[in-house]
Amino acid sequence: MKRIALLGATGSIGRQALEIIGAHSGLELCAAASGSQPIDGLAPLTQAGGDLTELLERAQPDLVLNAVVGFAGLPATLWALERGVDLALANKESLVAAGELALAAQRRGGGRLIPVDSEHSGAFQCLEGRSVDQVHSLVLTASGGPFRGRSRDELEDVTPAAALAHPTWNMGPKITVDSATLANKGLELIEAHFLFGLPYEQIDVVVHPTSVVHALVRFRDGATLAHLGYPDMRVPISYALTYPERSATSILPLDVAGGMTLEFEPPDLTTFPLLAHARKAGERGGTYPCVFNAANEVAVAAFLEGRLPFLDIADVVEDALAEADGSAARDLEELFAADKAARRHVEDALKVA
Ligand code: NAD
Ligand code: MG
Repeated sequence: MKRIALLGATGSIGRQALEIIGAHSGLELCAAASGSQPIDGLAPLTQAGGDLTELLERAQPDLVLNAVVGFAGLPATLWALERGVDLALANKESLVAAGELALAAQRRGGGRLIPVDSEHSGAFQCLEGRSVDQVHSLVLTASGGPFRGRSRDELEDVTPAAALAHPTWNMGPKITVDSATLANKGLELIEAHFLFGLPYEQIDVVVHPTSVVHALVRFRDGATLAHLGYPDMRVPISYALTYPERSATSILPLDVAGGMTLEFEPPDLTTFPLLAHARKAGERGGTYPCVFNAANEVAVAAFLEGRLPFLDIADVVEDALAEADGSAARDLEELFAADKAARRHVEDALKVA
C-alpha cells in the first residue's frame, strides 16, 4: 500500500487525483490539504491553510502529490525532496522559483521527483532515465490557449472570462490565464531545464492546438520519440502516483484511425512575449526565474481582479525582471527575499498605474 499525502486536494489536479486514488486499491490517502476551503472526512489528517510541512511531518507519507498552486507550494516540495520522500510534482512554480535549491535537496534526500505536468510526464517517459548526452533536444507542446492566432490589437480588451475559456484543458484559474499568455509554457521551459538537466538551447516550444502530442524527444541518432494521449490530466496523475508501475485507468486509448491529424506551428512571441521573457530569465539563471514567477503570480491575480489589462501582464513581468538584481540565492531565506521584493515591486507599480 502506497500512502499518499495530497496537497491542493480541492483544486483541479487535487480532485482528479482523489478519483485516481479512490479507484486504486494500492493507493491510500493518508493526508489532504487545501489553501482555505475545508476538506471533510477525506483522510485521517486533513488541513485547510497553515503550514503544510507540519501536516507532512505528522502523516509521514510514502509519496507527496504537490498540487498546490503557486510559490506557496515550495515548503512542501523542499520537505519531500530533503527527506527522500517521493514527490509527484504538479506545483511547477516551486521548481521554477527554487530550481537549484530543490535539486540540491533532492541530491541530499535521494527520493524520486516525478513530474505531473503533462508535457514533462510525457518527456520523462520518452527519456526513461537515459542520460541527456543522448538527447539532441526536447520539444514541449503548447495548445496556444484561447487567443492563438490573435494579434496584440485584438487582445487589448480581453476579459478574465475570455482568458478562462481554455480550448483543450480544464484547469484552475491561475494556470488557465498562464496558458492564455504563454507564461505557462515559459514556466514549463524552466521546469524542464531543472527536471531533465538540459540547457535551454536544447528545449524548444511548438504550438500544437489539439494537445494530443504532449512532448517529443529528439535523440542524437535522428530518432524522435513522442508522447501522445488525449488531454486528460488523470493520465499523468495516475502515472506519477503508481510509478514505476503503469496502472490501468478508465481513460480510453487514443483513436488514431478516426481521422486524427496533428498540426504544429511556431509560437507567436510578439503577441505572447512572456514565453520569451521566461526563456531569458531561465538563461540568466540566479533568482531571475523566481522573479519571473513572483511577478507573474501577482500580475495574474491583478488581471483576474480586473486591476490590470491582459497585455500589461507581460509588461509588468518584464519590468520586474529589469529591476531585479537576479543574484543567486544561497539559501531559502535569500530566495524568499527575492520573491518578496519582486511581489512588492509589482504591487507598487500597480498602485501607481
Ligand atoms: P487550482 O486553483 O484548481 O487548485 C489549487 C489548490 O491549491 C487548491 O486546493 C487550493 O486550496 C490550494 N492552495 C492554494 N493556495 C494554497 C496555500 N497557500 N496553501 C495550501 N494550499 C493552497 O489549481 P490547479 O489547476 O489544480 O493547479 C495546481 C498546480 O498544478 C499548479 O501549480 C498548476 O500549474 C499545476 N498544473 C495544473 C494542471 C491542471 O490541469 N489543472 C496541469 C498541469 C500543471
Ligand atoms: Mg503543462
